[in-house]
Amino acid sequence: MLRSFFISLSTNQTFRTFSERSAIGRRVSKRFVAGMTVEEAVAAANELNAAGLDVSLDSLGESVLQVSQAEESAAIYHRLLDEIAGRGGRANVSVKLTQMGMDIGGHGAGPQLAERIVGELVEHAARVGSFLRVDMEGAMYTEATIALTERLHARFPGSVGTVLQAYLYRTKDDVERLIGQGIRIRLCKGAYKEPAEIAYPAKTDVDANYVTLMKRVVTSGVFCGIATHDEAIIEEAKRFASEQKVDKKAFEFQMLYGVRRDLQRQLVAEGYGVRVYVPFGTEWYPYFMRRLAERPANVLFLAKNFFRN
Ligand SMILES: Cc1cc2nc3c(=O)[nH]c(=O)nc-3n(C[C@H](O)[C@H](O)[C@H](O)COP(=O)(O)OP(=O)(O)OC[C@H]3O[C@@H](n4cnc5c(N)ncnc54)[C@H](O)[C@@H]3O)c2cc1C
Repeated sequence: MLRSFFISLSTNQTFRTFSERSAIGRRVSKRFVAGMTVEEAVAAANELNAAGLDVSLDSLGESVLQVSQAEESAAIYHRLLDEIAGRGGRANVSVKLTQMGMDIGGHGAGPQLAERIVGELVEHAARVGSFLRVDMEGAMYTEATIALTERLHARFPGSVGTVLQAYLYRTKDDVERLIGQGIRIRLCKGAYKEPAEIAYPAKTDVDANYVTLMKRVVTSGVFCGIATHDEAIIEEAKRFASEQKVDKKAFEFQMLYGVRRDLQRQLVAEGYGVRVYVPFGTEWYPYFMRRLAERPANVLFLAKNFFRN
């Protein structure tokens, strides 16, 4: 119930505007958001790199409805890619298609705009030896996101990948589809609210499907990301990879900024690659609410820290 509550709250415009403008909102969001500016994000990335962690930078924002907003979002990513190249850090970028204009206008204008903008970003990433991950949003974007990634991969092989969500029934086939083309997958459980016609309603089924898919991607020969904080699944991934004699560096674990920092560092100490997803920017509200939806106990945790600091 609380999960649904926070997911609904994540799309509430009034509360969003209030929260993003308030000093309290910014202070609370700090636990999961690395700052408001590119400089703060790069500083956080430097710190994580120094601790042996890789990074994926995410300039927060989604569902833009004006071309100028999409272009502004892209400009931030071009700056990030230059920063990454300039400092030789271990970082790549994650983008959302709705932030790149996917929803703008009729007659396919949005998808065309998003593909042009993301294509230019992937070209930039390829030029500086980095990588761009297209995040996965709600199910109405699944097919378009996969198809766009395939087209960009054909133009810039190895410089672009996407995300698949274990809660969707279709993901089993999508894993085969992407692996068959050598496209890097980030495997996650899924953060949106989807109906039972297309997604497993029970968490135990999502977890079981995740384990099945994790085994497939880890032994696929394609470098994939196991994006979860679920300790039981992480343990199983380690056990399975070792049993199958898969090199520890043939895949990576991925976790969110501010979540299970202890586990992130422990895995690095054990010789695994760990990439931390580092979100930043003023439009932190929907991202933050989805994190609360995943673990409503975070509300108490944040409240305690808020009054302690
Ligand atoms: C790197 C990365 C990228 C992602 N990209 C996408 C994407 O593109 N599209 C998408 O739909 N989803 C994405 N997600 C979110 C994902 O789908 C899940 O919603 C989220 O990771 C929670 O699921 P879990 O696998 O950690 O397992 P859960 O079963 O939700 O949690 C397992 C345990 O992890 C801990 N935990 C989980 N979440 C939190 C939290 N917020 N705070 C503190 N502890 C927590 C708790 O101890 C919990 O018991 C991404 C997740 C990661 C890690």
